[in-house]
Amino acid sequence: MSAESNSFPLCGGIVHTLVQSGTTNSQSSSLAPIIVNGKGADFKCEKTIKARIKKKIVTQKLILSLIDVAIKKKDKESVKKYWNTYYCLDKPVTDAKRLYGKYCKNRICTVCSGNRKAELINKYLPIINQWEEPHFVTLTIKSVSKNKLPLMMRNILVGLNRIIAKNKKRSQRGKGKKLMGIRSLECNFNPINKTYNPHFHLIVPDKETADILVDEWLVYSNKKGFWASKKAQDKQKIYDNEKCLVEVIKYGSKIITVPKENESHLEQIPAVIYANALHNILVSMNGLRLFERFGFNANFKPKTTHEIVLRNYEILKYNPSIGDWEDDNNNSTCNFKLPDNWNHLLEFNIDLELE
Ligand SMILES: [Zn+2]
Repeated sequence: MSAESNSFPLCGGIVHTLVQSGTTNSQSSSLAPIIVNGKGADFKCEKTIKARIKKKIVTQKLILSLIDVAIKKKDKESVKKYWNTYYCLDKPVTDAKRLYGKYCKNRICTVCSGNRKAELINKYLPIINQWEEPHFVTLTIKSVSKNKLPLMMRNILVGLNRIIAKNKKRSQRGKGKKLMGIRSLECNFNPINKTYNPHFHLIVPDKETADILVDEWLVYSNKKGFWASKKAQDKQKIYDNEKCLVEVIKYGSKIITVPKENESHLEQIPAVIYANALHNILVSMNGLRLFERFGFNANFKPKTTHEIVLRNYEILKYNPSIGDWEDDNNNSTCNFKLPDNWNHLLEFNIDLELE
């Protein structure tokens, strides 16, 4: 599924300056028809568009720090990826009703992870809602240094897959429970100890599955020398399936969670973003599946490419100096202002050294 096809739900809202002038200006009348993919985002919905421009501003400012880090480390591949993210949704197209554009689909991009989040919620929430007594499980190991991180990410993935495979075989012999659930791989950075803590978050259908996973995780990881302590593992009954699912699918983007409009910004914005550590985490996750289901299949709708032809449209362009998309006449389209605490964080509180 393309990121585009996962547009935000319809909601009432603004009549945009662009909506009023969009299809009648000089640009749209002189352009050749174009094909766009996906359903696009609801351009008339103020909430949707402002949420998207906010993610664009935050991501673009942060990505410049990551580019600096990657250049310093001579990591050309990451530099290229980060530039792609810099230009994500840079020149969107609108027919005054919906907004279409090219998405980078990188893990660090909050614009794209917002789309992915919506996609995963639509897929998995109806399934989790049918589970008897969903439990939230955290499986972790002793934190490691940056040098050990890439190997440890792979090691713990292998470990969890082995536990799942072993129980599957056991259940096929009629001797145990087949495990199922969804899991995401995450990693935190501890700036005081300069260590990284790779861990899993899982949602499973019942307490028995949660108990088996924690018990077997402790045995496996200690046998392998990963030193998982019992008190660092967690299992608890879920009372709000959707909230928990959102938590689980944040994965790679957790470090720069963009708060929702109606929530306290102060509570959710980290005090400092450690760009160097973030880069190390992203590199260690390259090629790994961060989110996966196990033990069950679901009849998801096949991916379809939704193409439409636009005849009357306008090409917008992102202007980093104002943090907005501008039309051909340099009119800004969203009139969104990033809250001061976000500006302060992105301006002064990105640490490029610590790792
Ligand atoms: Zn993107």
